[in-house]
Amino acid sequence: MKLDIAKVERELRETRETVVHQMQELGATETGDLTGDVNYGDGFSDAGAATAERTEVMGVVDALKAQLDGIDAALEQIAGGTYGFCITCGDEIGDDRLEFRPESVQCVTCKTTKG
Ligand SMILES: [Zn+2]
Repeated sequence: MKLDIAKVERELRETRETVVHQMQELGATETGDLTGDVNYGDGFSDAGAATAERTEVMGVVDALKAQLDGIDAALEQIAGGTYGFCITCGDEIGDDRLEFRPESVQCVTCKTTKG
């Protein structure tokens, strides 16, 4: 592996902060729970629209939470010295994939077979 782990870790932590911030802006906690005190503004005076908006927000929050989980798993791997190796099969994930998605903890094969 040719990747600079210290740089990867720094980037992952920066991305993590951004993701957490995005979740907070959507009214969600770091664990993906909506706090329920979000003001969607006057444009959502009718309950149906508000519910639709909330469902949409939940979808975005879910995606952000999944990304956060991946970042945490990758950071754990860095701490444990196993970063760059698939958590499922132990194969090398590959620098190309890690450069594209630093939070990758599975190789392409395991990721696509959904284990
Ligand atoms: Zn694998």
